[in-house]
Amino acid sequence: MSDLSGKHGLVVGVANKRSIAWAIAQAAGAAGARLALTYQGERLEENVRELSEQLESAIVMPLDVTNDQQIADVVATIDRNFGGLDFLLHGAAFALKAELDNPFLETSREGFRIALDVSAYSLIALTRAVVPLMERRGGGSVVTLTHLGSQRVFTNYNVMGVAKAALEASVRYLASDLGARNIRVNAVSAGPVKTLAAMGIKDFSSILHVNRERAPLKRNVELAEVADAALFLLSPQSRAVTGEILFVDAGFNITGI
Ligand code: NAP
Repeated sequence: MSDLSGKHGLVVGVANKRSIAWAIAQAAGAAGARLALTYQGERLEENVRELSEQLESAIVMPLDVTNDQQIADVVATIDRNFGGLDFLLHGAAFALKAELDNPFLETSREGFRIALDVSAYSLIALTRAVVPLMERRGGGSVVTLTHLGSQRVFTNYNVMGVAKAALEASVRYLASDLGARNIRVNAVSAGPVKTLAAMGIKDFSSILHVNRERAPLKRNVELAEVADAALFLLSPQSRAVTGEILFVDAGFNITGI
């Protein structure tokens, strides 16, 4: 098991108990880390505060990742409470419903901008903001969550696939920029999991079905399995790994016909 005792982490992207970010927060908490959790908007505050009570002295703050002032406020609060940061888990993604329902050809300029801003640019903005806190610890680990739709066409994934391609390229460029400061940047590419965000994708249940049929392991992945892989990347056990996209998809990504 990865040991995160004495480490402090920021987890962005918890909406409810089915969120991948929540599974990772639980795993990191169990491994000994002290966490800061964020919620997007008042709608989710109660959910996230309630969940955070299951963790040891977590701090909870609002964060819309498109808002630079809120990013600065979150970092200032972490600085005051933790005095530094060892890891960042980035699990925020969003696309307008219309962009996931209509043919990709109909992607609007505004829909493209929003999806790329929330789901890809936010990794750059958040990472830049936490670098000084990580440097104070002698380094750190940043992990984001992606999907194979970045490389292959998945029906109805549409602009989110383009956002994930930008996210994965950002992982590599950030890893290159930050390696000399001992800050690593990686992604977990998860197989389909039934979460709030996934339910926005039209006919998501058929994606689950095809994955189960075709994946070498003949099943879908569980939240805890994605969390365990993320924990590895967040912890010093992966200290020589950076710029990597680690698939946790029961092997689906290797399949052809
Ligand atoms: P989720 O529980 O709905 O988490 C997505 C989170 O992103 C939510 O907390 C959402 O808040 C947040 N978010 C959206 N816009 C935001 C903003 N402007 N500022 C801050 N947070 C914002 O779904 P999930 O499936 O666990 O998603 C987590 C990550 O895993 C995403 O990057 C997703 O693409 C990725 N992923 C998911 C799957 C899957 O099958 N589920 C597979 C591979 C990768 P709101 O609810 O308020 O929008």
